[in-house]
Amino acid sequence: MKVPFFNVGAWNQQLEQQLLAAFREIIGSGTYILGERLQAFETELAHMLDNRRPGYMIGCNSGTDAIRLALLAHGVKPGDEVVTVANSAIPTAAAICSIGAIPVFAEVDAVTWMLDCNRLAERLSPKTKAIVPVHLYGNMADIPRIRQLLAELGRSDVAVIEDTAQAHGSILDGRQAGTIGDFGAFSFYPTKNLGALGDAGAVYCRSPEQAERLRQLRHYGQKDRYLADTADGLNSRLDELQAAFLKIKLPLMAKWNLRKTMLMKRYRHELRDVPVQFQQPTTGCTIAWHLCVVKLPDSETRDLFRRYLADNGVETLIHYPIPLHRQPAFAAYAERFAICKKELPVTEHLAACIVSLPLNPVLTDAEQTRIIEVIADFFTHFPKR
Ligand SMILES: *Cc1c(COP(=O)(O)O)cnc(C)c1O
Repeated sequence: MKVPFFNVGAWNQQLEQQLLAAFREIIGSGTYILGERLQAFETELAHMLDNRRPGYMIGCNSGTDAIRLALLAHGVKPGDEVVTVANSAIPTAAAICSIGAIPVFAEVDAVTWMLDCNRLAERLSPKTKAIVPVHLYGNMADIPRIRQLLAELGRSDVAVIEDTAQAHGSILDGRQAGTIGDFGAFSFYPTKNLGALGDAGAVYCRSPEQAERLRQLRHYGQKDRYLADTADGLNSRLDELQAAFLKIKLPLMAKWNLRKTMLMKRYRHELRDVPVQFQQPTTGCTIAWHLCVVKLPDSETRDLFRRYLADNGVETLIHYPIPLHRQPAFAAYAERFAICKKELPVTEHLAACIVSLPLNPVLTDAEQTRIIEVIADFFTHFPKR
């Protein structure tokens, strides 16, 4: 039996008829961008995230642009510093650099793998304008604690932008991921908890003024038709086709997230006696799992483990093998702050020892049985040294 990491095509195929119907309607409508389908999706998602006091959702082209637009809306300028973590995907740092701001990499916690709040203050400087904590794999960074720390330090001018690309549906103490900071940046990249059939993203915020500014920034910086009063404008819109697809998928997200929760429970239970370590949820967090990432005892075992699974038909990935401070693109920024290898030992250790197991809404029980079987076999052949 071959088990792919994620058969995204099979996932969307389940909805083929509905997706085709939406496509047909849109062809003849003549409205392909900034129309009623986008508005409907934005409103529905904002209400889903906070039904009692909904904020504003502003659709855009991608998760990368969602971070970028939030930084611009907050007024981050070239040369300003933005604190983030180094165990994230490249786009987190690429978004910061794309507007000329400087990423400053902070360490993560050894058990939750989220931004380490105890080590945040040392990364702040008078030039810090924003923090981009990442809700990695579905777990959530402790945003209330980060905001409290900033308040205590008299730094409420620093915006908190939640990178929520991997955490649609996760909840911390009753509040949805992406709604706790000043901005929530969402991605609807095809494999995310809510995935489009192409690129799409959105920014969430609570301030009507910021919402207006974000709408302007995503549409050339235009305030009214043919009138621009900011030079920071982009072309970053979520088109009607993708908005319609996302609206079809949105009501099903809870069911898909639940299925992944069940699969995670089984992984945790059946792998309890082998030396793989799971990510520990942040206190108070109910995770909508995006990825099943486990940590092996060391880097050599991790590589042997991956090869053994591949040889037995089980596809795995590493999220992510090269931390951001060691990427050729961002290493110079890290050096500038003397953030060398030994400065981020937890981040380094994780990159060397983690592996992602298949976890997705179309993974079958039989496939998971096979994965667990192959893992058990691996540890019989390569006992813990
Ligand atoms: C996917 C992802 C992004 C970028 O989203 P795109 O829509 O691909 O631009 C940003 N941050 C994290 C953590 C991601 O996983």
